[in-house]
Amino acid sequence: MTVLEKILEIFFPTKCGICGKLGKNICENCYNNLKKYEIIKQHKDIYFVYRYEDIIRELLIKYKFNGNAYLCKTFSECLLKNKKVCKFLKSYDIILSVPLHKKRQRERGYNQSTLIAKELAKGINNQIKIYSSKNMLHKKLEIKNNFNLEFIDKVLIKNKNIKPQSEKGIKERINDVKGIYSIVNNSCVYGKKVLLFDDIYTTGSTTNECKKILLEAGAKEVGILTIAKDYIN
Ligand SMILES: [Zn+2]
Repeated sequence: MTVLEKILEIFFPTKCGICGKLGKNICENCYNNLKKYEIIKQHKDIYFVYRYEDIIRELLIKYKFNGNAYLCKTFSECLLKNKKVCKFLKSYDIILSVPLHKKRQRERGYNQSTLIAKELAKGINNQIKIYSSKNMLHKKLEIKNNFNLEFIDKVLIKNKNIKPQSEKGIKERINDVKGIYSIVNNSCVYGKKVLLFDDIYTTGSTTNECKKILLEAGAKEVGILTIAKDYIN
């Protein structure tokens, strides 16, 4: 913990994003109550962890529309507690988030996916493996990971502020994402295994469009990770 983090902890103590219990960003009880959905789709490159319903839906709405940026830690912790998600994260070189239009980002004050993607990279890179070795007289040996998932901000931008996808029909969604995203920096994705993070997956039109742009820019592979999958399809 940095000094700044210690000071922040005094004024804004870590609490469970669901029940408010102090100590962790998500307490064991609330974590265990979340219904996992866990679909790894198609060529094992799209991963949804929860369904967009019940507690997860309420929490995402609270996070996105009520200025509760601190909840990024609750979501990232939920994902990092999941071993399959960790394995998935470790199979990529860089993590990016789906961009918001600058107007929307200004209104909200943050990009919800960016904050979580950043926490995921930080969390996975700092995970410590504990080995027990007989030669060490059963002393636990802590070994830090030797890989690095790099978080890169502002690789993609959204050029047009369109209506939220959730307010549209399926046909309309697929047609109007065309051409609204572009890449700012090709060189940082070239030859890399890129993981694109978004909060909710509905029809996949947004993430597929971003994926197409990243592949055209030379990304070796593009995977998609989202917290929740909406019901529509
Ligand atoms: Zn709780």
